[in-house]
Amino acid sequence: MRQSTYLVPTLRDVPSDADIASHRLMLRAGLIRQSAAGVYSFLPIGTKVLRNIEAIVREEMDAKGAQELLMPAIQPAELWQESGRWEAYGSELMRIKDRHNRDFALGPTHEEVVTALLKADVKSYKKLPMNVYQIQAKYRDERRPRFGVLRSREFLMKDAYTFDTSFEGLDKQYEAMYDAYTKIFQRCGLDFRAVVADSGAMGGKDTHEFMVLSDVGEDTIAYSDESDFAANIEIAPVNVQYERADEEQQPLQTVDTPNVKTIEEVASYLQTSEDQLIKSLLFIVDERPVLVLVRGDHEVNDVKVKHVTDGQSVELATEEETKRYIGTTPGFVGPIGVSEEVKVLADHAVEVLVNAVCGANETDKHHKNVNPERDFSGVQYDDLRTIQEGDPSPDGKGTIQFREGIEVGHVFKLGTRYSEALGATFLDENGSDKPMVMGSYGIGVSRTLAAIIEQHHDDQGIIWPASVAPFDVHLICVQTKDDEQRQLAESLYSQLQGAGLDVLLDDRKERPGVKFNDADLLGLPIRITVGKKASEGIVELKVRKSGEMDEIASDECIEVIQ
Ligand code: ATP
Ligand code: MG
Ligand code: MG
Ligand code: MG
Repeated sequence: MRQSTYLVPTLRDVPSDADIASHRLMLRAGLIRQSAAGVYSFLPIGTKVLRNIEAIVREEMDAKGAQELLMPAIQPAELWQESGRWEAYGSELMRIKDRHNRDFALGPTHEEVVTALLKADVKSYKKLPMNVYQIQAKYRDERRPRFGVLRSREFLMKDAYTFDTSFEGLDKQYEAMYDAYTKIFQRCGLDFRAVVADSGAMGGKDTHEFMVLSDVGEDTIAYSDESDFAANIEIAPVNVQYERADEEQQPLQTVDTPNVKTIEEVASYLQTSEDQLIKSLLFIVDERPVLVLVRGDHEVNDVKVKHVTDGQSVELATEEETKRYIGTTPGFVGPIGVSEEVKVLADHAVEVLVNAVCGANETDKHHKNVNPERDFSGVQYDDLRTIQEGDPSPDGKGTIQFREGIEVGHVFKLGTRYSEALGATFLDENGSDKPMVMGSYGIGVSRTLAAIIEQHHDDQGIIWPASVAPFDVHLICVQTKDDEQRQLAESLYSQLQGAGLDVLLDDRKERPGVKFNDADLLGLPIRITVGKKASEGIVELKVRKSGEMDEIASDECIEVIQ
């Protein structure tokens, strides 16, 4: 590829909104450009790297007998209603309407679609087990899209789904996928840990997340290198759902609380007044504190309360009705204010909020719902809450370390959650109808790209691992006006390509300094510079990773590189 006509717009300046290395470098090296918040174009170099990661993913998936298919991004609402996720997925689900006013979702994941697909065409145990996957754009209206493609609203995911006749079968496929994921992330040159995670809202059994160790990760993992123990401890059950007093028609919004300590801080975080806050109602829903703010001048007994568990609204016109409603609403703690209990309840609310923020407890950290029954690598949730760095590992081997992690992959035993909801059954050997036993397995392909850069860069730019590098060689012609230099560069360009190498030829009329800086920024594994010694047939070879430089005869290049 000739750089003079290649769409690789490098930038010298760091865009101000990009505050982590991978985001900055992807913009500066011309891999991506933002189109809207959390929505990006991949330019040719970025696309090449995506394709390289995809190729690794495909090889390892195919090696396990998985079959590639392609499902639609546009998904009918009916499927999501059947599974119960049309409501449960909340505002992260991108919803659209067609011209007939029918509801659709832009797929954030494909459990519903794939289950309906297999339901229609797989009817017998003879066809099972089966593993199907796709690599496709996913849509999630993230509350806080950020860090470039690490958390975007449209992103590329490899998602796989397995279907079995039994849980034993599922265990086998899960292990195969776990193994494939380990190989994929190793081949991508990543330092990662597979950690036990919480199954949260997906409602499954076993689940592991593949976490790339990095300070910019939004989860905290506890692990010990001497033992098999590794768990995601970013399990703070914090979610405050609230209704803004001034926004009558706004749907219930969900926000993660930061590290709030006082009622003033809660009020200020929720952009409401303390007065307003003490009139709000506190619910505990699924172990999470939920505040419902009372609107305007209303008193508690005539507030329109949202029953947060199913998103339905109920009008409570009289004190009687309110009492009746409150009395029959599971998890209702009470109003935060309005009476003698004001102080107690307000304190309680704040205490819940504060205590609920556990683990790496900082603003901007990522929180999840947790199932307190869950066993994390032999450790109960309550123990995990208090686990500290330096503690002995639960299995007695080694000591606990904490690191931040970027979730690049997730494997999940779903069981029959979706097959039962959508009626995906098969006939077993005895002719009886059974729900298929499912698993689901995701890899964030575009997020993986950014995670690779997080772990492979220096002050000058990206340092691509050879396995995913957009080109093998950056061939630089220092002076394009110099005939000898140009001719040698051109001849090397075709020789290297002839040897099967992918070469980026810098044939631009730029100053040498600009070319060298761009070469370091783009981070191709090998740089070959054709300069002053072209007349003697000598070029300079530089290894991006080590910085090692050598002058070699131009006809030795291929041998040295391979
Ligand atoms: P997170 O905890 O980071 O929000 P998730 O648990 O919601 O991720 P999954 O539903 O497990 O994500 O999806 C599978 C994979 O898709 C994730 O492991 C991650 O690599 C990727 N992914 C999820 N959300 C995003 C996003 N907003 N941008 C880029 N990649 C994402
Ligand atoms: Mg998410
Ligand atoms: Mg997650
Ligand atoms: Mg996940």
